Amino acid sequence: MAILLSFDIDGTLELGDPPGGVTTEMVRKARDVGFIIGSCSDKPLSVQRKIWEDMELTPAFVSAKHQLGKVRRENPADAYYHMGDRDTDYMAAKDNNFGFWWAHEAAEQPWLEFDMNNHEQIPITT
Ligand SMILES: [Mg+2]
Repeated sequence: MAILLSFDIDGTLELGDPPGGVTTEMVRKARDVGFIIGSCSDKPLSVQRKIWEDMELTPAFVSAKHQLGKVRRENPADAYYHMGDRDTDYMAAKDNNFGFWWAHEAAEQPWLEFDMNNHEQIPITT
């Protein structure tokens, strides 16, 4: 099965401004385990692509935060998660039926606990 992880950048990734707790190695490992990875941020798409270059990783998608629904339409998967540090991240996830982690939760790599063969998306709570 396919599980998509959408990373906010500023306040979430270590290469963000401000830096967040999700390191490049965590993103790389998510990729290696088989997650579909990409970014969804208020940064211009060109800047997002540069950050992926700096991480030496190829994202499946880069997206504006208000286009999380487009990410869903264009990337078939069995479950979708977004993570970020702002209310706008939470709302974008909620509006588009993504699961959600706050950046500090994402830094614990909750996705590594998933069974990639049998997984139901964890719904957004609160
Ligand atoms: Mg942010």
